Amino acid sequence: MLETLRRVIQEVNAARDLNTALDIIVDRVQRAMGTQVCTVYLLDQERQRYLFMATRGLNREAEGKVSLDLHEGLVGLVGERAEPINLENAPSHPRYHYVKEVGEDPFNAFLGVPIIHHRKVLGVLVVQQQEARRYDESEEAFLITLSAQLAGVIAHARATGELTMADATRLPAKRFPGKAGAPGVAIGNAAVVYPQAELYTVPDRKAVDPAADILQLREAVDATRQEIRDVSDKLKDRLRPEELGLFDAYVHMLDDTAITGEVIELIEGGDWVQTALRKVIDNHVSNFRSMEDEYLRERGTDVLDLGRRVLAKLQSNEEKRADFPPDTILVAEELTPSMVVAVPRDRLKGLVSVRGSPSSHVAILARAMDLPTVVAVEDLPVSLLEQKPMIIDGFQGLVITHPNDEQLAFYRGVVEEEAALVQGLSELKDAHAETRDGHRVRLWVNTGLMTDVVRSLDRGAEGVGLYRTEIHFMMNDRFPTEEEQRLIYREHLKAFAPRPVTMRTLDIGGDKALPYFPIEEENPFLGWRGIRVSLDHPEIFLSQVRAMIRANEGIDAYLRIMVPMVSSIAEVDEAQRLISQCYRELIEEGVEVEMPDVGVMIEVPAAVYQARDIIRRVDFLSVGSNDLIQYMLAVDRNNARVAELYQEFHPAVLQALKQVVDACHAEKKYLGICGEMAGNPSAAILLMAMGFDVLSMNSTNLLMVKWAIRSFEMAKAKRMLNKVLKMDNAWLIKNYVDDQLRKAGLGQILRNKAIS
Ligand code: PEP
Ligand code: MG
Repeated sequence: MLETLRRVIQEVNAARDLNTALDIIVDRVQRAMGTQVCTVYLLDQERQRYLFMATRGLNREAEGKVSLDLHEGLVGLVGERAEPINLENAPSHPRYHYVKEVGEDPFNAFLGVPIIHHRKVLGVLVVQQQEARRYDESEEAFLITLSAQLAGVIAHARATGELTMADATRLPAKRFPGKAGAPGVAIGNAAVVYPQAELYTVPDRKAVDPAADILQLREAVDATRQEIRDVSDKLKDRLRPEELGLFDAYVHMLDDTAITGEVIELIEGGDWVQTALRKVIDNHVSNFRSMEDEYLRERGTDVLDLGRRVLAKLQSNEEKRADFPPDTILVAEELTPSMVVAVPRDRLKGLVSVRGSPSSHVAILARAMDLPTVVAVEDLPVSLLEQKPMIIDGFQGLVITHPNDEQLAFYRGVVEEEAALVQGLSELKDAHAETRDGHRVRLWVNTGLMTDVVRSLDRGAEGVGLYRTEIHFMMNDRFPTEEEQRLIYREHLKAFAPRPVTMRTLDIGGDKALPYFPIEEENPFLGWRGIRVSLDHPEIFLSQVRAMIRANEGIDAYLRIMVPMVSSIAEVDEAQRLISQCYRELIEEGVEVEMPDVGVMIEVPAAVYQARDIIRRVDFLSVGSNDLIQYMLAVDRNNARVAELYQEFHPAVLQALKQVVDACHAEKKYLGICGEMAGNPSAAILLMAMGFDVLSMNSTNLLMVKWAIRSFEMAKAKRMLNKVLKMDNAWLIKNYVDDQLRKAGLGQILRNKAIS
């Protein structure tokens, strides 16, 4: 069964369009289950009807023509209940509905299972049989398993199909829901970027110069042939002649009469060389994979490997992409910070990533750069989007391709409103973040790049609550030297002096990799991260701390050093011992500097429970809510699938934060929070009420949070907090707090604009 399942899924995955995919499903299921009928009904969202899409065993003439009302018949019942219905004698069921056009008269046995994607019923998969019998448990399990796996493929194929309707002169607007990654609206054209040598992510593009493309292809094919011959030569003594023959077969597949010829034909027809290669390889792979014979099926993998090799050669000759249009919306399966930084800032209007989540580092970078961003757009057919017009709504988390005039007009309005809001807020730059009843909070910023510094000062930042030093490490091709680090840190300190600058020691691991120091782990967020790496490599830690302390020489800025990912007192003691050692050595060397404040990030639940023990040893605490939420709720901050469960207002998170504040204040020490939560105006009011002394956020949100604080009374915020701490549901808490902000006249910054 497993093998059959695997093959069906593979074939459906490789199908060119939705109809082919559905046809493969009904055909293979009918054969695999030895049943007389197999049919797929898909829900037409607009008409709210189940469309009879593909069948084996019923009237194929009716495919795409007949439909059922949402609550009609047994199909409607399966959809309503969102669970399988297995009947021995369907016609005797009260919900049985006879549809003459599909010709289902003689069938008694009925098994219908819902096709569900992201909690929504997409359709119903039905098998039927004349004989009056119940489908047995293993048949039911087979169909359920298949349907669960097919749901994503169908959702994707459906989206792809709607974007490629061949005869449409103006393609209809299509909405792809995702998650809000960074606020704002961008209207522009997609530029698709993709990781190198991933054939399936190559986008559809037209050839600019077909002759040059053909030349490039020939060079890439020649290099690939040579590569295969080299491997074959190396293995000459170890393989039998018939095995070596396989390499010759590979080389022949690249002949003009085979793959190369087909690719050239497509280039001559207008396709870009990489697009043409992807199409030809896709075609061969799906042909091989649909073969009965196992040996031939496996050859699909060989062709794929060949395709990847040729693609790698094409890409290694490729200049770095430089043709970004002036209104670029960067689209990728998985955007990385380096892809974002590669586009000139003045051309970049927004970002879209199929994977990732609002708490991924790329989303954090986007917020810092003020770039509207949508992430976790799981059904987006990236490869079809090159140069397509689109709107991205980073407030709601929505991508609209081929927007219509009404949508364009609406969103142009939103852009204007936003600009007016930002303009209005700029007046608050020099005002204190002080409530109406006189409670003052410090608003600091999170930085990483030097460009953040200017933006932050422009917006009236009172200090730096988190300088992510690893960003500098990530942009290098080796560890930066102590002197290189010192110069960069000094610039930061100078720019902010006399305001405090909190430098976090290297926080790599998890989703932050250094190209020159790879960490391969099964479960990186629970692995070698942050302070764990630093303590295992004191030479790296010491040189960083020395650079930080030396950077302050002669400036007398307010330097604070902070260590990330602490999960035990032993780590705090060891980190402090090393920092003190550094300081002593520098004094002995004659460097004239003050001992910096030392603090710890509270990002791991264990540190919440030990907050009091920790704060007794250090000068300050800062909560890293991004990680604390992920570890408390067991929700990977990068995983689009569980992004919905990543909740800042989760009662457990709020209780934990309150506990840290109480522990710190009991020791009469200062504490801040530097996770993204601090930049959310609704959360910021709660955090202020809890007693956080410092809220550190990306500079984009700073003035908005200041406005919220200045519109509130501390007494009212405390009443709100007391109520919230008794509530047990994250959604209700969020709605309640947002509502209170609306009542305080802050509706405009809640940013939940919408268009249907
Ligand atoms: C955090 O975890 O909240 C934090 C500020 O650190 P980072 O997002 O860099 O992991
Ligand atoms: Mg963190």
